[in-house]
Amino acid sequence: MKWEENVRKVVPYTPGEQPDRPGIIKLNTNESPYPPPPGVAAAIEKLCADRMRLYPAFPEQTALAAELAGYYHVGTDQIFIGVGSDDVLSMAFMTFFNGGRPILFPDITYSFYDVWAEVYGIPYERKPLDAEFRIRPQDYKQPNGGVIFPNPNAPTGVLMGLEQVEEIVAANRDVVVIVDEAYIDFGGISAVPLLEKYDNLLVVQTFSKSRSMAGMRIGYALGSPQLIRYLNDVKYSVNSYTLNYPTLELGVEAVRDRAYFASCCEKIIHTRTQAEAELTRRGFTFPKSYGNFIFAAHKSVPAREIYERLKKNDIYVRWWNKERIDNYLRITIGTDEQMEALYAALDQICG
Ligand SMILES: *Cc1c(COP(=O)(O)O)cnc(C)c1O
Repeated sequence: MKWEENVRKVVPYTPGEQPDRPGIIKLNTNESPYPPPPGVAAAIEKLCADRMRLYPAFPEQTALAAELAGYYHVGTDQIFIGVGSDDVLSMAFMTFFNGGRPILFPDITYSFYDVWAEVYGIPYERKPLDAEFRIRPQDYKQPNGGVIFPNPNAPTGVLMGLEQVEEIVAANRDVVVIVDEAYIDFGGISAVPLLEKYDNLLVVQTFSKSRSMAGMRIGYALGSPQLIRYLNDVKYSVNSYTLNYPTLELGVEAVRDRAYFASCCEKIIHTRTQAEAELTRRGFTFPKSYGNFIFAAHKSVPAREIYERLKKNDIYVRWWNKERIDNYLRITIGTDEQMEALYAALDQICG
């Protein structure tokens, strides 16, 4: 058909499987195994149906922005809120990566980055991780149109120290550097304090992993007031009312209960430490992970086979048919009970 000549053609991002059946063990998309804090359930009761007649408030003017600003000790004018961090990142690509030079990101990383670069027509260059899956800061010191990387990196879980993050931000003062901190709450050190020194830094975080709210779709960015203003200008030019009223109300409660949040993160870190020992005992190797997942390869059984056999047991983990990582599985840290079921299945498959 003639009209197809003018269609923007993209190879879409492939999200993890989302089976929706009772009884499965879902360790494939890094959701929290724990519910959001009790305050969220209580706030659901108080939602007002009549309020839904009205358009929602502007996110940056809500209690949610104030709560986040308080949590991170920044001004409300330093917070941008979007529909999940995927929306925030997509807006950031559109807003900041227009220099014409290639943007830089690791070869093994969140597989949405090259998809957005393609869809927005942004040139890009992938920088290989070293043999231990570490990002090499020196690779990010050539002329470029911007830099983005997750810290800890996904799907490896490898954390870069704050000094090296700063080295990359400092070497790129003429472009925007985005640090995607989707997993920073599981033992990493955030780059947020660097915002005091660098107006070209954007730190992106999400409610989807550590804050137990993947289904609500809340993401946010922290940056200098100028960066945030530019992001809002683009966002209001594309789609004005994105976050709905219930999400804005319930998100506040998820941030307010700091003790509950800390205890969930600690539980996941504890289960992760146990998983390191259990997986090692069963013949797996993996880089030290600072995420709520472990990126592991088995010494003799191919990852694809383990992935498929686990699935037959209703245990879902993530596997990519991609160069360099096709013998690895990314296993989300679940509850202790879910992990016991995983180890029992692995004994059958790899034993
Ligand atoms: C999960 C994830 C995101 C996106 O999460 P949202 O659910 O859209 O907030 C972004 N970056 C990385 C590295 C992730 O793993």
